[in-house]
Amino acid sequence: MGSHRGNGGQSGGTSLYRPVQYLRGVGPRRAETLGRLGIRTALDLLYHLPHRYEDATTVARISSLEPGDDATIIGRVVSKGVIRTRKALRVFHAVLRDGTGQIECAWPGRPWLERSIRKGQLLLASGPVRFYHGRQMQPREHTILADEEDPAREGTAGRVFPVYPATEGLSHRQIRALIHVNLPGLLREAQALECFDARWRSALGLPALHEALATLHDPASLADIEPARRRLAYEELFYLQLLHARSRHRQRRCREGIRFTGENTLTTRFVEGLPFRLTGAQERAWAEIETDMERDLRMYRLLQGDVGSGKTVVAALAMLKSVENGYQAALMAPTELLAEQHFRGLTGLMADLGVRPRILTGSMAARHRSRTLAEIESGGAAVVIGTHALIQEAVGFRALGLVVIDEQHRFGVEQRRLLREAGERADALVMSATPIPRSLALTLYGDLDLSVLDELPPGRTPVRTGVRGPRSREAAFSFLGEQLDQGRQGYVVYPLIDESEVLDVKAATLMHEELARRFAAHEVELIHGRLTAAEREGVMRRFVDGEVQLLVSTTVIEVGIDVPNATVMLIEDAERFGLAQLHQLRGRVGRGPYPSFCVAFHSGKEPPERLQVFARTNDGFELARADLRLRGQGTFFGERQHGVAELRFVDLEKDGDLLEHSWHRAREIVTEDPELKKQPHRPLARALSERYGRREALYEVG
Ligand code: ADP
Ligand code: MG
Repeated sequence: MGSHRGNGGQSGGTSLYRPVQYLRGVGPRRAETLGRLGIRTALDLLYHLPHRYEDATTVARISSLEPGDDATIIGRVVSKGVIRTRKALRVFHAVLRDGTGQIECAWPGRPWLERSIRKGQLLLASGPVRFYHGRQMQPREHTILADEEDPAREGTAGRVFPVYPATEGLSHRQIRALIHVNLPGLLREAQALECFDARWRSALGLPALHEALATLHDPASLADIEPARRRLAYEELFYLQLLHARSRHRQRRCREGIRFTGENTLTTRFVEGLPFRLTGAQERAWAEIETDMERDLRMYRLLQGDVGSGKTVVAALAMLKSVENGYQAALMAPTELLAEQHFRGLTGLMADLGVRPRILTGSMAARHRSRTLAEIESGGAAVVIGTHALIQEAVGFRALGLVVIDEQHRFGVEQRRLLREAGERADALVMSATPIPRSLALTLYGDLDLSVLDELPPGRTPVRTGVRGPRSREAAFSFLGEQLDQGRQGYVVYPLIDESEVLDVKAATLMHEELARRFAAHEVELIHGRLTAAEREGVMRRFVDGEVQLLVSTTVIEVGIDVPNATVMLIEDAERFGLAQLHQLRGRVGRGPYPSFCVAFHSGKEPPERLQVFARTNDGFELARADLRLRGQGTFFGERQHGVAELRFVDLEKDGDLLEHSWHRAREIVTEDPELKKQPHRPLARALSERYGRREALYEVG
């Protein structure tokens, strides 16, 4: 839901835009921590919704468990430790006790839990029970419900537990407490935020906003969540559609662009010089882009394609078209590393054509920089690749014809500001490697035209994917060792454990120490979310340069990073990742001449269907569709599940009616009153500027 930063005023009868600091139990320190979660105002806190729920309504008494059961229990941790089995498998154990008895729980192959689960904590665990020196549960899932010092929630049966996204220094339990103490007051104020009148709502069967929020923070049962989810889904869709409708309306008014001609001197030679033929999808996308560029309107196009589908080649064509028409072309990447990668790739691709790309980044030596800047200004640099540095300083292009933006979701307002400032009439091509279904793409990027590369170049050896239980870990790690010994590189990825960074870091740190010992002959490095961008980039660079052979990581591996020598990706606790993320991770290997492997570890007896689908196909679009289909009962919210930050609540499989209704409604409103100045539309204008202000700014470019 983005941020709800407002002007803190009283209008609309609400002070929900006041800083979160003034709420009960917050204060300046906490406010800072909350800021890391994007929570700045009281309204932000109210919209900080659980990303999942634990259903404790079916909790079993520990005394009643029998081998063969599959059950959910809640108990305090009375003891814990790590045991090494004969097969060198390390098993984390904890004994849980409730009012009726106690049971041992075992997590084979997950010794890092030692650092996240503490004695005295209240744990919810679910999984199969077997007989092993007594009754033993092997939890598939577990959640820490309360800390040792927190006596609450003891007799908890019959409740649904909200689990909130958390951050370092603020556990999901602390956040829950914080929200719940403030909830009644916030909900009262939220009544003033209602933008949809009752008739409109009842046509769609949607509850009022404050009712929906109340339910999502504290549902009586899982079944209550769905209508509340739909209410927020409608809101997300409606505002997005309204933004798109207004953006299109504005574009129609001023969208004068460059009319490129069909010179084809460079583009034809480029295609002829490629060591391969364009795929059908590349041909189609290129034809669409070329048509756009030859119109006298500015191009706003999204080029979407899975990892390795050949987007760079298509982008290079568009850049060359700009160049052969006497204009410059720029490519913006989200990090220096990715910019360098593009620079190397495009330099190679364009070498035979006599086009020599330049690179501009923040960390370049001053002399080199100023020379490059001069070349950009004189027009001597026809193709320029860079990071934000391209826009942060006054980079004066002589005649910018095209801007290519890689990985759109990493950029904010800046990308369009570049268009406005650097190239008055430049075309824009946005590249995204997040494979999402067409319907979702149209919803998210409704103001952009869409080209899709839905076909991989032939002759690739697909990454071999295995989904394995804990007993296969040893074999997988030995295999990793063999690959390292042969000179290859690899990744080991650890997931979120307690929805909080600090524990992730502890888990990854523990495993890094262990793997560094095990693979002492190789350089093993750790990368995690608490490193600064510069530190992270430093580690990544050493990996790219081959100085580091094994990267142990939480999920912060750069999207798009290209290390052809990396052949192994091991993913721990794979159940905790969304399909989109798993697919992105897998895309880090199989980029060179070597056969590559991805192993996803699961902890239960049988891998969940999601992981089976993951093992079955390498097709990102198919995975994205499966992901939508397999998303549970609206019980999982948030980006983690589908990789799309803007739509936390929408379930496109189920919300077709909402999509359609919101689309029509938004068009009607914008046609009648584009500036939302009429009385009944004023609350919408306010909601847009308060809640989507940042996004709205993106559309102010002509
Ligand atoms: P993306 O940017 O979509 O991840 P790239 O453009 O980097 O993909 O292409 C990945 C690899 O495939 C590159 O090595 C590129 O040279 C190669 N490639 C691109 N198009 C084709 C094609 N039509 N046939 C064969 N190989 C191709
Ligand atoms: Mg044009």
